[in-house]
Amino acid sequence: MQIKVVKFGGTSLADAEHFKRVAEIVKADPTRRYVVASAPGKRTGNDVKVTDMLYNCYNMIRNREDITEYYKNIVQRYTDIIKGLGIDFDITGELEYIKHAMMARSGRDYAASRGEYLNSLILAKYLGFDFIDAENVIFFKENSEFDEERTNIAMQEELSKHKNAVIPGFYGCMPNGTIKTFSRGGSDITGSIVARAANADLYENWTDVSGFLMADPRIIENPLPISTITYRELRELSYNGATVLHEDAIFPVQKEGIPINIRNTNHPKDKGTLIVPFASERNNHHIITGIAGKKGFSVINIEKNHMGSEFGFAARIFRCLDFYDIHTEHLASGIDSMSHIVSSEKLNSKLDEFIPELHKITEADNISVDTGLALVAVVGRGMKESKGTAARIFSAISNAGVNVRMIDQGASELNIVIAVYESDYEKTIEAIYNEFVKD
Ligand code: ADP
Ligand code: ASP
Ligand code: MG
Repeated sequence: MQIKVVKFGGTSLADAEHFKRVAEIVKADPTRRYVVASAPGKRTGNDVKVTDMLYNCYNMIRNREDITEYYKNIVQRYTDIIKGLGIDFDITGELEYIKHAMMARSGRDYAASRGEYLNSLILAKYLGFDFIDAENVIFFKENSEFDEERTNIAMQEELSKHKNAVIPGFYGCMPNGTIKTFSRGGSDITGSIVARAANADLYENWTDVSGFLMADPRIIENPLPISTITYRELRELSYNGATVLHEDAIFPVQKEGIPINIRNTNHPKDKGTLIVPFASERNNHHIITGIAGKKGFSVINIEKNHMGSEFGFAARIFRCLDFYDIHTEHLASGIDSMSHIVSSEKLNSKLDEFIPELHKITEADNISVDTGLALVAVVGRGMKESKGTAARIFSAISNAGVNVRMIDQGASELNIVIAVYESDYEKTIEAIYNEFVKD
């Protein structure tokens, strides 16, 4: 029999009505055996995610503020869900325990993880599935890296004991027994880990959009959905800001070649996006598969005559960047100049020390920093074999009056990344989308 692992995001489990939809989806297909759950997300536009409420509690405790009143909002979110589902389930003991554990300083990650823990307990009860606590099957190493092999063995063994189970997303356990979370949106990674261990035929990732769209729906009105996308294209898009799926979520399933299907809990009949190891056809006949982007970058320009012939010049710069924990996102170089695009947040906090140090080790003629940049990535497996794609991109954005600060084409010719000023960000995405997608 087939096995499907299904992950439901925060909006899909935000209230009792959504829990009911989730149960319908799970029960409609007996091969949906393992369910990964997020914490309750936003019910409306200005609502607060439970994960954010838990982070707020942690901060309040650190500032020695009393959380009694604030915590009642969290209690209310869960008791509303239980009441709305009409199940006989008393979660008050768990909620009290968590409150006290947070006050006893159990840590930031412990606090954040309780959102998925509680939601999964309720979902398991409602579905009549077993509950597997992620802290017993997902492990991190001493250096905080995810321990994929230890996890895979423990997860496989545990899953084999359960026909059906709910597993909370987002967190696991450190060697010393404390809780550690993945980065935000990390339940997508948990889903992928479970899919790999279950040797699933499909990993369904249920969210609030009908699949990956060709551009961020907050920028382009009704962008076309992507029907099929490869792991590599998806990685490019999610790394570059398309937040539908966590950028690291493909790694566990990639090991086994398990496809991911992004689906919409509110429109379960929609086919969504299928993420596959390889695809020969273009996405819906378009040259590009999608556009993504992010704001918050700076460019460090280093100029020095004859830098190209100076032995170890680039290596010294990279060592210095490493030392200050600043990561080069993109690099462009000329004969006597080099430009590193880096995160503004990382750079700004170290600017006063970093730039003098860079001057010292490079003896550069000039170093300047230009900030307020955005990166836009145009991704597509069809780009390699179509001539003139770059020309079309640049004439479209130049016609829109956008000034390009830097260009980087990946060696695989799968993507072209363009740096523009943040004020031109939306305009750039619109211009590219209109050029390639709208006829
Ligand atoms: P979940 O809570 O289910 O994990 P997320 O909020 O993490 O859902 O991801 C879904 C959201 O990603 C959508 O609601 C949408 O606003 C946003 N998004 C950004 N870029 C895209 C894109 N290219 N296609 C679809 N959705 C996108
Ligand atoms: N609840 C966590 C977050 O808000 C993890 C997730 O939703 O995937 O980031
Ligand atoms: Mg998410």
